[in-house]
Amino acid sequence: MKRTIYGEDHEFFRESVRAFVNRELTKDFDQWERSGLMDKSIFRKAGDAGILGVAIPEQFGGGGTPDFRFNAIFLEEVCRARIMSAGLGIQNHADVVIPYFLHYGTPEQQARWLPGLASGELVGAMAMTEPDTGSDLAAISTSAKRDGDHYVINGSKVFISNGINCDIVVVVCRSGSDPAARRSLSLIVVESDRPGFTKGRNLDKLGQHAADTAELFFDNVTVPADHLLGEEGGAFLQLMAMLPQERLSIAVMALAHARTAFDDTLTYCRERHAFGQPIGSFQNSRFQLATMRTELDIAQTFVDAQLAAHFAGELTGEEAAQAKWWCTELNNRVLQTCVQLHGGYGYMEECAVGRAWRDGRVMSIYGGTNEIMKDIIGRRMLGV
Ligand SMILES: Cc1cc2nc3c(=O)[nH]c(=O)nc-3n(C[C@H](O)[C@H](O)[C@H](O)COP(=O)(O)OP(=O)(O)OC[C@H]3O[C@@H](n4cnc5c(N)ncnc54)[C@H](O)[C@@H]3O)c2cc1C
Repeated sequence: MKRTIYGEDHEFFRESVRAFVNRELTKDFDQWERSGLMDKSIFRKAGDAGILGVAIPEQFGGGGTPDFRFNAIFLEEVCRARIMSAGLGIQNHADVVIPYFLHYGTPEQQARWLPGLASGELVGAMAMTEPDTGSDLAAISTSAKRDGDHYVINGSKVFISNGINCDIVVVVCRSGSDPAARRSLSLIVVESDRPGFTKGRNLDKLGQHAADTAELFFDNVTVPADHLLGEEGGAFLQLMAMLPQERLSIAVMALAHARTAFDDTLTYCRERHAFGQPIGSFQNSRFQLATMRTELDIAQTFVDAQLAAHFAGELTGEEAAQAKWWCTELNNRVLQTCVQLHGGYGYMEECAVGRAWRDGRVMSIYGGTNEIMKDIIGRRMLGV
């Protein structure tokens, strides 16, 4: 299908991203998948290639354009190269973490941290989820107690992307005792070399092996009070404002991931023979391929509309939630069908579609589960 949201500048950028992906990410990908960790030096290389800080002002070493379509191009390219999990650390750093510094950092905080985030010298992580609570963010218990001109942080986080590679973490903490739990949450920046901060296990996931996902522990970690991002007690609203971009990012990735698996399956259906004919000649295969292609194209028009809306500053929380749940469930359906059409080969590690099936499954869970997405949409519609 013909897409109309990208202009010449975007396609030019795509060429350089594609070259970066082929040059830096594909070579060692299998080794990172085995070790459960992408080499941290890649962040510096991505910074040099202008991929990390597209939205960061030029004075801090970024690209100076708040055009999320450039970020989307990176996601599409790693999925096209069939190495999605090598792109996840960068996606999390650029699409999820940096926006908090851009939108809520004071001029001093921006001058201190944005240059390192743009160059890849600092790798970022965003820590919300805890062992006892994920969806119910207002119930988190990691505490930040004010002590003079410092905060003292205690607690733990789990499932944190870039948790092993990170140098700097935006931590959602409970900093007050306001009876309205949501009004006592704050965002506090913690550097990974602070005494009392430790990285736990690199968690053994079912897929996305090249992306590190870890536990983080805070034992009387002391940070200066000027590590507070935005207003004290304002984290819930800050998260609600920033999460739509994270969800659109996941939707873009889910769709590109499913599209690549579909392309591989179309080729396989032409080449694989059974009963003396290509398996694509069976009516069931044709119907499955037609269904997937139609659903992918229709989803693409919605996602492209949201990318354009985001550029215009009009992306809403509901539409981002719609894009996220629809595209990640579509990805689950498409991958299920693609594996089936590959027969036994589809279940082999050597098969790109088989690996894509296990890598993509979590997208309907992280970034807010799809049940939470539907809850957001339903509540806004009904005003409850
Ligand atoms: C690979 C990976 C990377 C991640 N990266 C990060 C990260 O970088 N930072 C971070 O903070 N977190 C991260 N997470 C955590 C992720 O965002 C959470 O796992 C997710 O939000 C769900 O929270 P939970 O696991 O606690 O599930 P729970 O909240 O316990 O939910 C369990 C089930 O109950 C359902 N449920 C819960 N509440 C409701 C409700 N009100 N209505 C209907 N159903 C409901 C859920 O939809 C789900 O099906 C990551 C997770 C994974 C797996």
